[in-house]
Amino acid sequence: MKSHDGMYIAGEWRVPVGRDAIDVRNPADEQIIGSVPAGSAEDVDAAVTAAREAFPGWAATPPAERGARIAALRDALAARRDEIAETITAELGAPIGFAGAVHADLPIAVAGSYAKMAAEHSFEERIGNSTVLHEPVGVVGAITPWNYPLHQIVAKVAPALAAGCTVVLKPAENTPLVAQLFAEAVHAAGLPAGVVNVVTGLGPVAGQALAEHEGVDLVSFTGSTAVGKRIGAIAGGAVKRVALELGGKSANVLLPGADLERAVPHGVANVVRNAGQSCNALTRMLVDAARYDEAVERAVAAAESFVPGDPSHPDTRLGPVVSAAQRDRVRGYIERGVAEGARLATGGPEAPEGLPHGYYVKPTVFADVTPDMTIAREEIFGPVLSVLRYEDVEEALHIANDSVYGLAGAVWAAEETEAVAFARRLRTGQVDINGGRFNPLAPFGGYKQSGVGRELGPHGLLEYLQTKSLQL
Ligand code: NAP
Ligand code: MG
Repeated sequence: MKSHDGMYIAGEWRVPVGRDAIDVRNPADEQIIGSVPAGSAEDVDAAVTAAREAFPGWAATPPAERGARIAALRDALAARRDEIAETITAELGAPIGFAGAVHADLPIAVAGSYAKMAAEHSFEERIGNSTVLHEPVGVVGAITPWNYPLHQIVAKVAPALAAGCTVVLKPAENTPLVAQLFAEAVHAAGLPAGVVNVVTGLGPVAGQALAEHEGVDLVSFTGSTAVGKRIGAIAGGAVKRVALELGGKSANVLLPGADLERAVPHGVANVVRNAGQSCNALTRMLVDAARYDEAVERAVAAAESFVPGDPSHPDTRLGPVVSAAQRDRVRGYIERGVAEGARLATGGPEAPEGLPHGYYVKPTVFADVTPDMTIAREEIFGPVLSVLRYEDVEEALHIANDSVYGLAGAVWAAEETEAVAFARRLRTGQVDINGGRFNPLAPFGGYKQSGVGRELGPHGLLEYLQTKSLQL
């Protein structure tokens, strides 16, 4: 695949100071498909300098004009939609159909939403004798993961640009090719030099240097809770704004009147989607004792309908996970589940039949999972579902909330009002009611250790603004 051997800094592809490279592997066949430079602290410094220099001009650009540039960015991405999908299939292993419909189309829609919001948001409000100005925070350091690589980039860069901030992006080492494609789209959109800069590199080197840089005013991070805690500590120490979008272990609560025929396959598809690599995956299914066996049976049938295979084939619905390390991690959790006494209803730690190469994991359903088991507590990030039993609705609520995480959730009930009443008692940032669809304008973010701050829609824009009050 096409790749650059430079860093996108100040509107051009610059020769990096760091001389190390990162090989990009296709997880479906384990072959190297490209190579990008591994940025050093010096490269990060050059990018932050460019972003600082571009900041006053971009902050002073009228919001409607910023909106027009973001619309041009949306158009540049839309023009390369199929190439985006192919790139994400090649470096992440996402099935090509899903890569187009979600990995490409979602960020295009999100970019469009911020083009509109930049033009429509009122950057001034009146409170009594004060005029309150909404001003950009400054230079944003964005650190993104590989699981929805373009979506996570756009969910930070688009609102930052709408607010009038400039950006240095450090994308994940596993998926740098789509990040370079994004930089090309930024260039094609005619954004002024230095407004968006992209430094590829390793987390502990380039990522850490970006989080620590004095020239960065806000760090926006999406990824693991372990790294998020470090970033939060660094930002706190420097009194910098920070947004953290971390992991989850979300509950899918099937209340006693729920339609299992609909709810169970819907829940399984949610977990298997993107090979289980979604921070908001509904990985704990909670079912009442009376209908537990029926639900497990339906979950097994639904999981077995996902046959792992070549993600570039249009019929494939389950591809490999992103890397050998991720595969080993997921298989390790499956072994742990068995060791701790959960019942393997389908799937398992072995490679799927007929797929000796590639980082594939069998779609796996565990039954008889109890709330204390590791597979009920930790984020697995693979196509693995834990089905838990509850005796009554109060116990269901207790189990659902018994997590250090609180990112997402779902409730199914015979009546919407009953599901909504239950959802109000969940300590989590999002809840889907009876199969409610993902909304790219709704605030997305976590309670508890799932994070700090909100992304997407108008709430996502506010993260990049600070207020100044003028008393008149
Ligand atoms: P990660 O290490 O947290 O990676 C996220 C981003 O942070 C990447 O760009 C990474 O760079 C960077 N990073 C890593 N260490 C850093 C540091 N010390 N300072 C600054 N930036 C740093 O996550 P991962 O290793 O890719 O995945 C591990 C686990 O995290 C997964 O198995 C999953 O459970 C969880 N995860 C959650 C989400 C989510 O959306 N909530 C997303 C991804 C992963 P590199 O790419 O070079 O590591
Ligand atoms: Mg990492």
